[in-house]
Amino acid sequence: MIKAITGVKDALPSDISKWRMIEETVRNYFNLFNYKEIRTPIFEETALFKRGIGEETDIVGKEMYTFLDRSKTSLTLKPEMTASVVRAFIEHSLGSIQPLNKLFYISPMFRQEKPQAGRYRQFHQFGAEALGCSSPFLDAEMIQIAYDILTNFGLKNLTVKINSIGVPESREAYKTKLKEYLADKTEQLSEESQKRFETNILRILDSKDERDQKLLEGAPIILDYLDEKSKDDFELVKQALALTGLPYEIDPKLVRGLDYYTNTTFEIVSNSVGSQSALCGGGRYDLLIGLLGGKPTPGVGFAAGIERIILACENEGCFNLPEDSIDFYIVRLDKELTGKAYEYAAQLRRSNYVVELDYSEKSVKAQMREANKCNCKYALFVGGEEFKEGKAGLKNMQNGEQQLVSLENLVSEIKTLSEK
Ligand code: ATP
Ligand code: MG
Repeated sequence: MIKAITGVKDALPSDISKWRMIEETVRNYFNLFNYKEIRTPIFEETALFKRGIGEETDIVGKEMYTFLDRSKTSLTLKPEMTASVVRAFIEHSLGSIQPLNKLFYISPMFRQEKPQAGRYRQFHQFGAEALGCSSPFLDAEMIQIAYDILTNFGLKNLTVKINSIGVPESREAYKTKLKEYLADKTEQLSEESQKRFETNILRILDSKDERDQKLLEGAPIILDYLDEKSKDDFELVKQALALTGLPYEIDPKLVRGLDYYTNTTFEIVSNSVGSQSALCGGGRYDLLIGLLGGKPTPGVGFAAGIERIILACENEGCFNLPEDSIDFYIVRLDKELTGKAYEYAAQLRRSNYVVELDYSEKSVKAQMREANKCNCKYALFVGGEEFKEGKAGLKNMQNGEQQLVSLENLVSEIKTLSEK
């Protein structure tokens, strides 16, 4: 038996209402904030992600699904969306069509990570990128959209963490200080952090290793090294969040994994999902578009993991979805009327009613069982004496009331009925 690949999941019909609810809410919210949807291909040239995400990151370093196609081009299944959106933005000169492009997406992503609850190899994100404006109000807006969507689902145990990592110049000064602080402690650092000490020292702050965290307790804080503009912008982000009553915590160790961030970084974590607690992360990346060959343009965005959100919603009992139901089940009383039942089903479906019928010559009793299972509003009985008189019995399954309807004007009779 061939099974699905490790770390990927099927969404079966029984899960789909959750996915649809999430996708619908996401679309509604992005519409409220006037974000337009963008869809990009599942794969890109590998170079895009290498350059756009950064060689030193976990994603590029060890998680990408990269392969050569038949013409020996190196392709990668998208591990995140920002690089792809920026590529499309540059390629289609979206910045010259309008100065600010507010874009959102819902898309599968691929990372070859160790599968566990809340961590998969194909997973799904929704997220946004606003390209063309450096106002801190947009940073706050990103946090606001993500937070509003998550709270709209009914999630309660959320913490919004924010930080600013400033611009490269001020960051260099901080990196030097951090290096000085850790210089005589490198041997006590985890193996991963020892590597990062040389390659990307800021990422040590991200370490989940407890010993590392302990060693970092007295470390210098990046917020103390921000330049004046970055400081002012961070103040404005905080003020904007306060204006809408959005609760946040400042986490000076939140640097996020990606190389291209500037200024604001943020994450929303849930304490209802165990160790994979980050539901969403984002930040500002004013240097990325220039780095990828576009005219330097500021940008800010976030991405949220749908599987983790579903986990959190399940754990907090947020899903209160209506039961599946249909409008009509057509019960065929005589076997030779299968064609007629099929014809009435088509008429009703063309008028937008959800209709089910039996395809396999089931007995009347078995059809009634099916009708109940489908949770239909009405059962329509085709056959017997009534049929000879051009009529069918209609049973309201909620209150048990029965009546006859004319088959000649079936749809219009039913419309009048349902309008009553
Ligand atoms: P983590 O620290 O958990 O690995 P990350 O920093 O790699 O997260 P991002 O690249 O910021 O994650 O992606 C944004 C969101 O996408 C995460 O907050 C998470 O909800 C979700 N996500 C990331 N990787 C996975 C995965 N492998 N499986 C499921 N969801 C994921
Ligand atoms: Mg990760």
